[in-house]
Amino acid sequence: MVTVPPPEQAALWSRELEGREPAEVIRWAVAQFGDGLVIGSGFGKDGLVMLDIARKIRPDIPVLFLETGCHFAETLQFRDRLRHDWNANIVDVRPELSPAELEARYGADLFARDPDRCCALRKVEPLQHALRGRRAWMTGLRRSQHAGRGQTSVVEWQELTAGGGLFKVNPLAGWSLAQVEAYLDEHHLPRHPLWAQGYPSVGCAPCTSPVTTGEAERAGRWRGRGKVECGIHATVAPPTRMVAEPVVPPCEGS
Ligand code: SF4
Repeated sequence: MVTVPPPEQAALWSRELEGREPAEVIRWAVAQFGDGLVIGSGFGKDGLVMLDIARKIRPDIPVLFLETGCHFAETLQFRDRLRHDWNANIVDVRPELSPAELEARYGADLFARDPDRCCALRKVEPLQHALRGRRAWMTGLRRSQHAGRGQTSVVEWQELTAGGGLFKVNPLAGWSLAQVEAYLDEHHLPRHPLWAQGYPSVGCAPCTSPVTTGEAERAGRWRGRGKVECGIHATVAPPTRMVAEPVVPPCEGS
C-alpha cells in the first residue's frame, strides 16, 4: 500500500471538496477526523457561520478561543453569550505566562513595540500547544478576505513547531463576505456588538480600529503597521511589521 504524505493528502482532499457547500465540508471533516477535530474561532462573522453549521452536526465540537488578555469587553461578553445560548463547548486558550508575568518579562505595551512577538506569545504559541495531539482544526478563512489569503485551500497541512502537524480545514474558503452576511441574516445569528459600530473584523482591542465606508473588511486590523496576520495561519501569510505606532487601550497586566 502506498502511503500518501499529509501535504499531498490535503491537496487530494482539497480537490475533491472544492466548490462544495460549507455544510458538506464540515460534515466530511467530522466524519473524517472524529474527536480529533476542533474549531479555532475568535467569533468573527466567518467563524460564527462555521460554528453554527458545525454545532448542528456535532453539538459538542470543541471551539478553541485565544484568550489573549487583550480583547474588547464586548468580545468576551459575546463569547459568554454563545456559551450560554448555544451551549457551545468553548475552550479558552491562554498564554503560558499570566498577563502580569508577560509584562514583567517583556515590559508594558508589547503590542505597540513588537506586535509580532506579542502575537507569538499570546496567540501563536498557545494555539500550537492546544493543537498538539489533534488531527485537524477548522477555521473561517476565506480567499476573499485579503490577497494574502487568496490561495487558501479547503484542506491544508499545517506543521507544528514542536514537530508533526495536523490538517487545517477551511469550509468557507470559496465564500464571499456577502454570502457570509446572507447566512447571518437568514439564520438570525447573534451579532458581535462591535460589528454595528464600524468594526467588521474584531481582533485584540489595542490592534483593532473601525473602518470607514469603502475600506476593506480587515483594514482596521493592525492599521498603519504593515501587519496583516497574527501568525496562526503562517502557511498562508507570515506576519510582517513595517511601522510601529502607539496604540491604546492596553492589555490586561499593562
Ligand atoms: S493582536 Fe495585538 S494585542 Fe493581540 S496578540 Fe497580537 S499584537 Fe498582541
